Amino acid sequence: MDSLEKIVSLCKRRGFIFPGSDVYGGFAGTWDFGPLGVSLKKKIMDEWWKFFVENREDIYGIDAAILMNPKTWEASGHTATFADPLVECKECKSRFRADKIAKNINESVTTEEFLKTHTKCPVCGKENWGPIRKFNMMFATHVGAVLPDDDQEITAKNIAYLRPETAQGIFTNYKNVVDTIYPDIPFGLAQQGKAFRNEISPRDFILRDRECSQMEIEYFVNPTTWEDNFEKMRNLQHEFLEKIMGLPENKIHELEVPAEDRAHYSKRTIDFMFEYPNGQEELMGLAYRTDFDLTNIAKASGKSMDYRDKTTNETFIPHVIEPSIGVERLFLAILSSAYTEDEIDGNKRTVLKLPANLAPFKFCVSPLLKNKPELVQKAKAVYDKLRTKYGNVTWDDSGNIGKRYRKQDEIGTPACIVIDFDTLEDDTVTVRDRDTTEQTRTSIAEL
Ligand SMILES: [Zn+2]
Repeated sequence: MDSLEKIVSLCKRRGFIFPGSDVYGGFAGTWDFGPLGVSLKKKIMDEWWKFFVENREDIYGIDAAILMNPKTWEASGHTATFADPLVECKECKSRFRADKIAKNINESVTTEEFLKTHTKCPVCGKENWGPIRKFNMMFATHVGAVLPDDDQEITAKNIAYLRPETAQGIFTNYKNVVDTIYPDIPFGLAQQGKAFRNEISPRDFILRDRECSQMEIEYFVNPTTWEDNFEKMRNLQHEFLEKIMGLPENKIHELEVPAEDRAHYSKRTIDFMFEYPNGQEELMGLAYRTDFDLTNIAKASGKSMDYRDKTTNETFIPHVIEPSIGVERLFLAILSSAYTEDEIDGNKRTVLKLPANLAPFKFCVSPLLKNKPELVQKAKAVYDKLRTKYGNVTWDDSGNIGKRYRKQDEIGTPACIVIDFDTLEDDTVTVRDRDTTEQTRTSIAEL
């Protein structure tokens, strides 16, 4: 097994992540978070919110609807350009993203360029391709009462899309926020939520799924200051990823995205790449979106998107710096840098060295022996006390103590607390450290 397979297997075995609709044989590109996974995911999202919104005075939160007026996607350019180059094998009818199966081509590849690469079909091995067609990745749905036998005009009129990015929910609320709280510039609006992309071939576990959670900030700045603010946001991302999420600095690599590969709205983009078990992949993006979105919204809605500077009275459409991160990508980066196999006194073990602020449980409490009521009673009292104080504390009295340690190591619990006969005498417990496996004696009052 390679290390990504090992992580996928641990995720399923311990209840972090299950394949979506598992009981029906799955549903491509979807994943469900189990009890431990949702705990880790929530902690990631809460830490982000604390770091970027609650602990700052210049960034405010919003939470927009997933279904938005279809004009949104006309104005943003998604209806026209949010498309992948789809190519079909004429032999076996398999469909692929052309830029993912051929080397050295990008998303704007033409049929002619693709054929020149002489790529063979990954499924049947033949080389017999149809033309490249643009496939829009937005999920379409119908809003209101629409029946299959309604005429085409009615059906087309009722089409809406599941949002392909959370960003537009921010841009479309920019004016509401400016009109209601009139923040000093620069200011940011932050949002967390689901986004949907109809990926042609979802793969790589949760890296390329059809439904994902995003955390995005649109940081509105005076256009003359975009470079300084870009640097500010760039440094903040490193601080968050390395200090708060605990990702190793040497596994994060910045990639300056060349003009021809940038999204249609961007004048500068840095991709933060991460060394995942199966190679470098994008972890997050930092983009200078200029006034592209606000200008298009102003044109499409007929409403002014101007901002008036309170001190200089200067009026302008703000430019935007956008840090955008996928929760699942961050989740997998954290899991893969925490995943460790080591050997303690000749015994192999798997341990998730999760940072303490992200571990699903802070402590595991257990009685040394399950069949001694006085130990169980004392352990329950310690468990209740710690749960009241910290919340995320778990109980385990199954199997022997060694087995309990193995299990807690695998789910990343930083410390195991064991109540034994000495506890009954002097109110001290054994605290066993996940990473070093060292055991120390501590009084209950100090926990
Ligand atoms: Zn084929």
